[in-house]
Amino acid sequence: MDKSIKYNSFMTDKEKKQKALEIYQQLINSLEEVEDKEQVIDVVNTLIEENGLSPKGEEKVTLKSIRSTFINNNFSIICPKCGSYNYVKNGSAHGKPRFRCKDCSSFFGPTSGKITEGTSSFSKKWDKFIEGMLCGDSLTILSEKCNISLSTTHSWRMKVFNHVANSTAGEILSGIIQEDEFYLPASFKGNWKGPLNLGINKDYSNTIPDYQKYGFRDYSHKRGSQDTKRGLSDSKVCVATAIDDSKSVIGKPIGRGNVSSEGLEKAFTSRLNEQSILVTDKSRDGIKFAQNSGLAHYALDSKTESRKGRYNLQLVNALHSIIAEKTRSRSSFATKNAELYITWEAWKLFNKNKSLEEKKSILSALVVPGKKTVTNKEIRNKQLPQVLQK
Ligand SMILES: [Zn+2]
Repeated sequence: MDKSIKYNSFMTDKEKKQKALEIYQQLINSLEEVEDKEQVIDVVNTLIEENGLSPKGEEKVTLKSIRSTFINNNFSIICPKCGSYNYVKNGSAHGKPRFRCKDCSSFFGPTSGKITEGTSSFSKKWDKFIEGMLCGDSLTILSEKCNISLSTTHSWRMKVFNHVANSTAGEILSGIIQEDEFYLPASFKGNWKGPLNLGINKDYSNTIPDYQKYGFRDYSHKRGSQDTKRGLSDSKVCVATAIDDSKSVIGKPIGRGNVSSEGLEKAFTSRLNEQSILVTDKSRDGIKFAQNSGLAHYALDSKTESRKGRYNLQLVNALHSIIAEKTRSRSSFATKNAELYITWEAWKLFNKNKSLEEKKSILSALVVPGKKTVTNKEIRNKQLPQVLQK
């Protein structure tokens, strides 16, 4: 930004007019992405500060402002690249303060690396949105509460899912690890006609729907309904979940139809600490997987045994019931997002003793160093996991 002309008593009237025009232009540029009043005030304040402007006789002018939130909440800002708290304020851009990391020299803003990054709406809507998600609101209700379109609601929800998943990605499970499988009917609900919802015209007459493309079935269901075939046809998806002592979770689809030890190996290889103890039921493939893994293994005899004692499957069962209930409800999820969904439900389950406010502030401040927030394009282009494709 041009700081050569500053407001001071030596400015000519023409210079002042010129300056005012420049500020006006900067303001309009900055406002392109802004929806809320508070953010407008913040933009104006930053422009005043950047341009060294203040009326005669006063040290510094600040509009009635929420500016202080950036200062007071600095503890919630970390370098999105390396995770360092060691940074300095370094000017501003688009009406927002910029910071420079003293450890890795990267520049970033107050929302860099957070769920809200890359979305134009200000924190109030996001605050409502995160709260609604924690309370289990449906997409329709979230959309109404936050006054955002359904397609924005969908993409924000995916942003939250991805963010939480990023924060646990690659974790190694250790100690006592519970592992079990369950089966989901494949669901292809959602936005294969996504661009249409976004007002982009596209010819769909040659588009093959996902359920057909991936060989699940060759007929269409009513919108959002699911495959109700009984038994383990290969239209069912096998999901395996492992949870350890410290409540780290891996939960993902491992294949179609019956569980296989190969599927389990693929899902958990190099993700379980060698010293850990694996607890499973007595399913053949679970046992085979445990043997091949070389881990100490405890196979539970019965349902009763899985609920008590030091070695049990309580947590994994609790999580599976939550997911199963979701699958039966209208707010079900597309199978391609199953892993994200499981990770999110697990996060909620294991943080259920925290207050709503606490959970909200954890999520809105969450930065996963080195990981970028998911883009709308990535959300749209998400494919069914390779293990589920034929
Ligand atoms: Zn850094």
